[in-house]
Amino acid sequence: MEKQGFTTAIVHGDRNTGTEHGGVHQPIHTSVQYGFDRVEDLIGVFQGTKKGGFNYARQGTPTTAALERKITSLEEGVGTICFSTGMAAITATFLTLLRAGDHLVASRYVFGNTNSLFGTLRTLGIDVTTVDACNVEDVKQAIRPNTRMVFVETIANPGTQIPDLQGIGNVCRERGIAYVVDNTITSPALFKPKAVGASLVINSLTKTIAGHGTALGGAVTDTGLFDWSTYPNIAEEYRRSAAKEQGLLQIRKKGLRDMGAALSSEQAHTIALGAETLALRVKQSSDNALALAQFLEGHKAIGNVYYPGLKSHPQYEIAQALFSGASWLLSFELQKAERMIDIVNALELPIKATGLGDTRTLIIPVAPTIFFEAGPETRKAMGISDGMLRLSAGIEDIDDLIADFSQALKLAA
Ligand SMILES: *Cc1c(COP(=O)(O)O)cnc(C)c1O
Repeated sequence: MEKQGFTTAIVHGDRNTGTEHGGVHQPIHTSVQYGFDRVEDLIGVFQGTKKGGFNYARQGTPTTAALERKITSLEEGVGTICFSTGMAAITATFLTLLRAGDHLVASRYVFGNTNSLFGTLRTLGIDVTTVDACNVEDVKQAIRPNTRMVFVETIANPGTQIPDLQGIGNVCRERGIAYVVDNTITSPALFKPKAVGASLVINSLTKTIAGHGTALGGAVTDTGLFDWSTYPNIAEEYRRSAAKEQGLLQIRKKGLRDMGAALSSEQAHTIALGAETLALRVKQSSDNALALAQFLEGHKAIGNVYYPGLKSHPQYEIAQALFSGASWLLSFELQKAERMIDIVNALELPIKATGLGDTRTLIIPVAPTIFFEAGPETRKAMGISDGMLRLSAGIEDIDDLIADFSQALKLAA
C-alpha cells in the first residue's frame, strides 16, 4: 500500500503488523518472563541475533513494542524506545549519551524539570550551557570542541518561545553534533523534528499523545539522520550493530534496561488508544487555543498574550513555516495582576491544575507553582513574569470557553 496518512497509519497499525485471533488491538501482554522451546532462541534474544524477541519485560513487551512502532511511524523515524515517563526518556538519553567532561548546549526555554535536571548533570561533571535558542548565533557561540549534544523544545512551555529549529539543525549537521528535540508541545501531529535535521526526538506521551490525562509515558525516537559511528560515547559492545542502530541500542541497554524506568503494558495500551485520535484532538484544541488567544488579545483586561499563532508573536513566521498549527499551549498576563486569584477562581470550565495536552482545558499561575522552585532569576531568564497564567486548551466547544472567560474577566473591571 502507498504511504498512508497520519491517522490511517495509527488506527490500522496494530492490525497490519499482526495481532492474535484477528484482534484489532495489540493485546495487553502482562508476562514478565518470555520462555522458549529451544534454548538457542533464548540465547539469540540475549545476544540480539534473534530480532523482535523478548526476554524480560523491563526491556520491553509485545505491547510496548507495538506502541514503539506507532511512535516511530508518527515521527517517520527508524526506531523508538518507550519509558515510564517523559522525564525518564530525557534522563536516559542524557545519561547514556553524555559522559563527565562532555558539554551540552541547551535552550534556556525548557520544561522546568528538564531545567532542574541540567543541575544534576552539572553535579556529575557534564557541563551544560543554556542559551537563547531563538538566536542561532547564541547556539553557535556556545559550542566547544567537547560539545556532544544540543537540546531544544519545539514550543517552550510556558513562554511559547520557538527556537531557530532549522538553523540549529544546520549547525549540528555541519559540526557532527547530536541534535535532540523535545516535540511534546507540538507532537508529531503538528511537526516532525526530522524535517529540521533532529537526530533524536523526545515525546512525553503523557501529554497530547495519550491525551486524556490517565497515563504517564515517554519516548525517544531515532530519526535515522545521525551517524552514530562518529559519536565518541558509544560503548564497544554496541559498535557491532549497524551505525544507525547504535544510539538507540545504547539507550535501550544502558538507559531502559539498567536504569529501569520501564513503561507497563497496561499504560502502553492506554497511550496507544489515546494516540488513535491524536490528530483530531490536536486540531480541535489548537483551533480553540487560537480562538482564545485572539479573544484574549482583544480584551481590555488582558496584558501580553503569548501564542505562536498570533501575528504579534516573535516567532509567528517560524510557526507558520514549520508547524501545521500553533498548538494548544498559550500563556497570558492580566492588566491587573492583583485580580488574578479572583479571576481564575471565577472560571468554571478550565480546571485549576498542572498538566498539559488534556481533553479538558487546564489553567495554572506559573510563577507560584511549576516555576516556584526555579526562583526569580531563572524565571526572569525564561521570560516568566509573576502574573503569567498558562493555559492548555482542551477540546471543549469554543463558544463555551469564550463565554466562560467573558464572564470571569468582568471581575477585572
Ligand atoms: C511534561 C513534559 C515533559 C515531561 O514529561 P512527563 O511525562 O510528565 O515526565 C517533558 N518535556 C515537556 C516539554 C513536557 O511538557
